[in-house]
Formats: sequence, structure tokens, C-alpha cells
Amino acid sequence: MNAVKPVQQILPPPPPHMVGDGFRVHNFFPGGYNMDLRRMSPFFLLDYNAKIEFPPKDTPRGVGVHPHRGFETVTIAYHGKIAHHDSAGNSGIIAGGDVQWMTAGSGVLHKEYHEKEYSRKGGAFQMVQMWVNLPAKYKMTPPKYQAITKDQMGVAELPHNGGTVEVLAGEYGGVKGPAFTFTPMQVYHVRLNKGTDVVLSFPQNYNTGLLVVEGSVQVNNSQTAPADNFVLFKNHGTDITLHAPENNLLLVLSGEPINEPIVPYGPFLMNTREEIMQAYRDLNDGKFGVLEE
Ligand code: MN
Repeated sequence: MNAVKPVQQILPPPPPHMVGDGFRVHNFFPGGYNMDLRRMSPFFLLDYNAKIEFPPKDTPRGVGVHPHRGFETVTIAYHGKIAHHDSAGNSGIIAGGDVQWMTAGSGVLHKEYHEKEYSRKGGAFQMVQMWVNLPAKYKMTPPKYQAITKDQMGVAELPHNGGTVEVLAGEYGGVKGPAFTFTPMQVYHVRLNKGTDVVLSFPQNYNTGLLVVEGSVQVNNSQTAPADNFVLFKNHGTDITLHAPENNLLLVLSGEPINEPIVPYGPFLMNTREEIMQAYRDLNDGKFGVLEE
């Protein structure tokens, strides 16, 4: 075993806010704890809708048409169903661990809603949205959309029926994830059965954290993080030992930092103020395309 990657902090979910009327999210970063804007780079933002019940509604809740430029939105549905449409002509519905990986790149308009049938019935809802930054040379890449269903993920079975490491992006133990990424990163769903231990290794300079989606996890044989908490790791050491005091589901993020200046403003994430102003000019000039409400 190599050097341990220590826990920097276990973060409980900050107070939630609504995104539109459909997503009640805890923003772990960058806002929730006033972290440095690049603390988790290339992951710029993590919004987590902890499990809640939505009552039935005929007109689906969600967020209306809005633009993005300069990064990717990655949406994961755990409970409930989420529908997406964008001005590049892509659309999709996700549920049960499926992922929408949308590269806004040079710019799209999109809208994000509860799927119709789910909305009509109501029920449990739990999801994640991350914003993954793009390096300057790819910020104006053409928009693109990866619909990644749970059954397309790479799956590594842990010994003794201990659970699985599901690879969305990057690689674990020779198993590769289906997502195309512009910079190196590892994104896993780790599902551990009670009593199981697993060791994950990431380069020490990679920004690394994990969200406890279900159950709880004991980290490096010391602290235990309960459900809905985010564990932030220090940038030294490589190896993380995870132990399951009960069955759990963890979203693990680790990525090579993008060492460039960033200027976030509203729905845009660019390198300079001038590029933000250009984004607004291009939006006003109709260069983000057309999408009906
Ligand atoms: Mn959006």
C-alpha cells in the first residue's frame, strides 16, 4: 500500500436552495463552503438534491430554457426521472443511476425537467448535477451529448461479493468507463456491501472527493461520513481505504486540476471577463441556437 490520501474535511450538506421549482439542491462547491473556485477542479460545481418526495404535478417541475458555455453539465438521477432538451437537438430521459453528460462547449440552450410520468405520480427524487470545467483550448468545442445508461458503465466486481466499482469515467483495475472526457478524471459509483473494504488510488495532485449517496462510509480506518455528506481529500498521498459499516453508494470524483484562471458568471464559465461579455453578446445575437419553452 502506498501513502494514504488523508481526509481534509467531512462536509455536511449546506442549506438547500431551489433551482427552478424542480431541484432542491445542496451546493457543496464552490459556494456552499466558500471554497477556492478551483479547489475541486476540473469539477467546478456540485449540486446535490438529497432524497426528497415531490407531490404529484401535471405540469412537470424544472428549469426553463437557459444557456451554458465553457464547460460540461453532468446529471445523474438516483430516484425520480429527469428529462433534458437542448438547442443542439439532443434530448433524453434518465433514471436509476443513468447519466446525461452534456458538453455545452461553445454554447447551448437547454431545459431540465422532471419527466412527465414521474411528475404526474410524484414520489422520491434524488439527483446530482456537476459542472465539469473545460480547458481554454476546448471551451469553444462544438456542443455534444453523451447519454450514458447505468448498464453501459464499466463494472468491476469486488472479491467475496463485496460490491462493485462502477466506472463512469476513467478507469479502475483495468475496467474503463464509457464517458469521453476532455481532461483526465475518474468518476465512479462505488457500491459496497456491509463489512467490505476497498482501496482506491489516485495521483496525489488530483483533486479528490466523494459524496455519500446512500448509507455511510468509514474512511482510512478513522472518520465515518454519514449519508448526504461530502468527503474532501487532501492533495497528498494516493490511497483511500473505504469501509462500509452498512450497505452504501458513493459517488467518487478525482481529476487532474486545470491550472488556468477561471471567471464564472451566471451560466457561463470562461477564462476571462472579456469572454464572459462575449458570451452575453453571442447569446443576444442568437448564436446559442433556438429552443422552445
Ligand atoms: Mn443547465
